[in-house]
Amino acid sequence: MGLLLEGKNILVMGVRNKWSIAWGIAQAAYKEGAKLIFTYQGQREGESVKELISEMEGTEACQCDITVDSDIDRLFETIREKYGTIHGLVHAIAFANREDLLNDFVYTSREGFAHALDVSAYSLVAVARRAKDLMTQGGSIVTLTYMGSEKVFPGYNVMGVAKAALETSVKYLAANLGPAGIRVNAISAGPIKTMSARGIKDFSNILEVVEKKAPLRRSINLEELGHTALYLLSGLSSAVTGEVLHVDCGYNIMGI
Ligand code: NAP
Repeated sequence: MGLLLEGKNILVMGVRNKWSIAWGIAQAAYKEGAKLIFTYQGQREGESVKELISEMEGTEACQCDITVDSDIDRLFETIREKYGTIHGLVHAIAFANREDLLNDFVYTSREGFAHALDVSAYSLVAVARRAKDLMTQGGSIVTLTYMGSEKVFPGYNVMGVAKAALETSVKYLAANLGPAGIRVNAISAGPIKTMSARGIKDFSNILEVVEKKAPLRRSINLEELGHTALYLLSGLSSAVTGEVLHVDCGYNIMGI
């Protein structure tokens, strides 16, 4: 068997630094022959993303704030002009206002609720709609979710609601885009230390509990997320769509 992603153009959205889940996925995809296009939110973040990807030959990074439609349009127009077709999209983007993660959920503001859902859930719909026009040979869209959509994790708050919307969006998008040969799946990742995770109150405690109670008695690492994404981005998962795949050392099956 040749490289799993040879000849595939893959858009990776959500690299902030070398601890980002999207970076773990990008490294795995690059090793398997993918040509990668990255995005960053603003100029400041762009500098560090460009430095990070400088070690990957033939890759480039484009600016795109996921809440700005004209940014998304420009991104996909640039990709259309330069690459014509894409085969994969990694969506690893989420955000909630700090106060909505610190206060009890009941105090979530209307603005905070709408913003968290806009950045963390609607953004998948917005990019899938543009991506489908460039996925002329079929494709695979992979997003990242967390078990806080299914059960209450104190401090995850509005992000749990956003992840529930994201997971249901995965199913509706999979149904819409399936006839065009485009698959849409989510990885429900176990807790892993990243910049975003630092915003969750009690994150260290969540990590500790997982390490004690998960069937495999440990938490996950970036490489394992990269390998799962490889499976979902490649033909190895050609009949899998609309799924939420837990990659959490089995923690989600435990009752107590
Ligand atoms: P991360 O490194 O902080 O990545 C989050 C990314 O979201 C950053 O690149 C950030 O860009 C981007 N982003 C936020 N708002 C944006 C906007 N308006 N436009 C464009 N990009 C925006 O954290 P991560 O943990 O790898 O998160 C990736 C995904 O995995 C998220 O969906 C997260 O919920 C999910 N996840 C994480 C865990 C965990 O334990 N870490 C577990 C399960 C699921 P900037 O750098 O420009 O802000």
